[in-house]
Amino acid sequence: MIEQRRAEFAALAGEVAACRKCAAMCGRRPVLSELNGAVGARVMFVGEAPGRQGGDRTRVPFSGDQSGRNFERYLASVGLTREEIFITNAALCNPRTGTGANRRPTRSEVENCSEFLRRQVEMVDASVVVTLGAVSLAALRAVEYHQLSLKENVGRVHAWHGRWLVPLYHPSPQVLASHRREAAQLEDYKAVAVALRRAERGGGRAPQEIKRGSKRS
Ligand code: SF4
Repeated sequence: MIEQRRAEFAALAGEVAACRKCAAMCGRRPVLSELNGAVGARVMFVGEAPGRQGGDRTRVPFSGDQSGRNFERYLASVGLTREEIFITNAALCNPRTGTGANRRPTRSEVENCSEFLRRQVEMVDASVVVTLGAVSLAALRAVEYHQLSLKENVGRVHAWHGRWLVPLYHPSPQVLASHRREAAQLEDYKAVAVALRRAERGGGRAPQEIKRGSKRS
C-alpha cells in the first residue's frame, strides 16, 4: 500500500515538473520531490509558495532563508524534525514580481495548483495537516470545503476531511513583525502536538465533520 502511494507520488512529481499551467511561472521549477518529505508522514505542512532564496533555490520547502529558519525553530519547539514531516506549498512554483522579488501567488495560480495539492493530501495521507498562512488555509477549501479563517481559528485543532487540521500563521519575518510575534507563534504550535495526540488516540483519523476547534488535548 505504502509502496503504491510512493510510486504514485513519484509519478505526480514527474507530472508537476512538466506543468506549464501558470504563464507567470514559466522559467520556474516546481518544488515537489522526495525532498518534501516522506509519503506516509504523520504531519503535512502546507505553505504559500516557495521563496526565491528558500525552496526555489534549495528545492526543499522552508529551507535556506529566514522563513525556513523560523519554521525549523517552531518545529523543534514541539519536538518534531524534518524527517517526520511532509511539507509542500499551495502553489508549487515561486511567484515573482517584475523586479524579481517574491510575491503572493494569485488566486488563479493557487487554483491551477489545487488538483496537485488534493493529490498530495491523499497520497501522503497524514493524520494532521497544518497550514502556514491564510493562502494555504484557503487553498484547502478546494480539497475539502471548510469555513475556517486564520484570524479566528489560528492555533486550534479542527476535524477536516478525516484528519486534524491546525491553521497557523506563516513564519516569514514580515508576518512575525506585523501579524504574529514569536511568542504567539510558539504558543500556536502547541496545537500541532495536541492534534498529534488526538490522532494517536483515534487511530490516526479524525471525525469527518468540522467541529468547533479546541486548544485542549
Ligand atoms: S504553480 Fe502549480 S499549476 Fe502553476 S505552473 Fe507551477 S506547478 Fe503548475
